[in-house]
Amino acid sequence: GLGVGWAEAWIRHGADVLAEHRLELIILDRDIGDGDHGENMDRGFQAVLIRLDDLPPEANPGDVFKLVATTLISTVGGAAGPLYGTAFLKGALAVAGASTLDGAALVALLTAARDGIVLRGKAESGDKTMVDAWTPAVDAAAAAAADGADETAILHAAAAAAEGGAVATEPLVARKGRASYLGERSAGHRDPGAQSSALLLRAAADAAA
Ligand code: ADP
Ligand code: MG
Ligand code: MG
Repeated sequence: GLGVGWAEAWIRHGADVLAEHRLELIILDRDIGDGDHGENMDRGFQAVLIRLDDLPPEANPGDVFKLVATTLISTVGGAAGPLYGTAFLKGALAVAGASTLDGAALVALLTAARDGIVLRGKAESGDKTMVDAWTPAVDAAAAAAADGADETAILHAAAAAAEGGAVATEPLVARKGRASYLGERSAGHRDPGAQSSALLLRAAADAAA
């Protein structure tokens, strides 16, 4: 199973990846939103990095995700802060107390995170939001786990599906969030939140090696 070392490595690597892709996310959000998504995510995860240093040695993966949730909720404004905050909070609750996560626990973690985003934002699949990265990721993780894949392979399946889901938002017309104000003109652009979700899920897989 994957322990706190993986959870911390995921979030640290995720913060680095979001910093590297800050401009890309800004440009995606400039096309169909207000251009701040890269800034929002980078600011939030840099704040997470600072607070991770205070994590007690006996922390488990759920404690890492809870710290991410509370930090994102308090430092990231706009839509993405509460959405990612709820995702990490629900994910933390799903694995609370576990010191290591097996395949079933990883599926539970990803499912709870996705369900948190849906609970908070009320988006359905095809609305051109981050849900369009998370739902294929959850489905792919569950399928991989059912096939007996190990934890690393489950996370790689989820990441690949999230990347495909982000690309697949390009032709969609947005029905939720700021991009929905553009109506048909939102088509032809990738959703920034779906892209940041794919980056974060890829970081989770890479942290598991
Ligand atoms: P804001 O739109 O407030 O500036 P961000 O730019 O940080 O916030 O985040 C925008 C992203 O949030 C979108 O690309 C989309 O993926 C996601 N999003 C917005 N509204 C919703 C919603 N109701 N449900 C799910 N995701 C949403
Ligand atoms: Mg924005
Ligand atoms: Mg904004």
